[in-house]
Amino acid sequence: MAWVNENFAALEDSYLFSQVAHKVADFSAAHPEKKIIRLGIGDVTLPLVPVVVEAMQKAAAEMGVKETFRGYGPEQGYEFLHEALVKYYVGFGVTLESSEIFISDGAKSDCGNITDIFDDANVILVPDPVYPVYLDTNIMRGRKIVFMEGSPENGFLPMPDPAVKADIIYLCSPNNPTGAAYSKAQLKEWVAYARQNGAVILYDAAYEAFIEDEALPRSIFQIEGAKECAIELCSLSKTAGFTGTRCGYTVVPLALKRKTKNGKAMSLNKMWLRRQTTKFNGVPYIVQRAAEAVFTPEGQKQCRENLAYYKENARLIGAALQEKGITYYGGTNSPYIWMQCPRQMKSWEFFDFLLEKLGIVGTPGSGFGSSGEGWFRLTAFAGREATEEAAERFRKLL
Ligand code: PLP
Repeated sequence: MAWVNENFAALEDSYLFSQVAHKVADFSAAHPEKKIIRLGIGDVTLPLVPVVVEAMQKAAAEMGVKETFRGYGPEQGYEFLHEALVKYYVGFGVTLESSEIFISDGAKSDCGNITDIFDDANVILVPDPVYPVYLDTNIMRGRKIVFMEGSPENGFLPMPDPAVKADIIYLCSPNNPTGAAYSKAQLKEWVAYARQNGAVILYDAAYEAFIEDEALPRSIFQIEGAKECAIELCSLSKTAGFTGTRCGYTVVPLALKRKTKNGKAMSLNKMWLRRQTTKFNGVPYIVQRAAEAVFTPEGQKQCRENLAYYKENARLIGAALQEKGITYYGGTNSPYIWMQCPRQMKSWEFFDFLLEKLGIVGTPGSGFGSSGEGWFRLTAFAGREATEEAAERFRKLL
């Protein structure tokens, strides 16, 4: 008899996006004449930039020639991409060794896989609302999870509570779904808390490239002492439109050490290397060459143009909400706009209202955690024309 992992039975059904799709399909069927604008989308819509496509084509051609063909590569990624990332981090004032960087097929995989190197007795601290993967991957391990509430009072940026003892802390900045981003002073407090408690921060910086305020940190390693208490998870998905191409990177500092329950000192970098070399065979050469192109000066210029396009979309939505006196967070250092549902509506109630009255689709905030109730996520990833029309509809009808 094979027993299955009973922790899976404790997972709540993830019906958020299927429910959204269902409601939209019903509405479309009932009102085929109405044009629906989709601002619920969490995926990029602009194509890959030209330098990335060229790099992929060149690498694909190399794969067809005996002398330049590549088989299995290093599980932790090719040196050329490590070097490109080391230089990218220098741009934030962070010095990394290339052996501290691990290339992966995206931040979602790493978020889930990183749970392998921690004991299941750890207490996990998760923001609420947040990207649901942190919660579900730890439920799958049967771990104790404690939530820290995001609210207007803390600007949706929960801070350490000395009364709460946690071992693993997830931070997401800029946050999905709220768009809120931690300041250096706030991250300093988190680093101090983690060091005091021997905790480890898992810092999800998937949206770091959206940060335009130069005072805000792009990496947790800009904070002194973070290399002894943090792992950073990054992605090219939103930075460079790699949601379908798949590439991310995780930084596990050499200075990060913790003990086993029996007191044996372990390097988390060595553990992660061992985990990856055992369970992962690396990202395709073609994709890594594409990723390398993102970090060239021309690649950065082209990707920044796409980011500027999304940010202008965010600005347009934000401006319309502001005119209507609606409270919202995000929209400047993030592709997400986190708005308060008007007239004290609940998240799903507002979803129905928005769809029926304005033909606009968004994502109910309650789907990102109970503290998201009464809030709503709009995204900047739709096309310009659709975004402009959505802004107009908000102006006219809300
Ligand atoms: N982290 C956050 C906060 C996200 O919102 C997402 C994707 O939406 C990811 C990670 C996953 O990114 P990837 O496409 O690299 O797996």
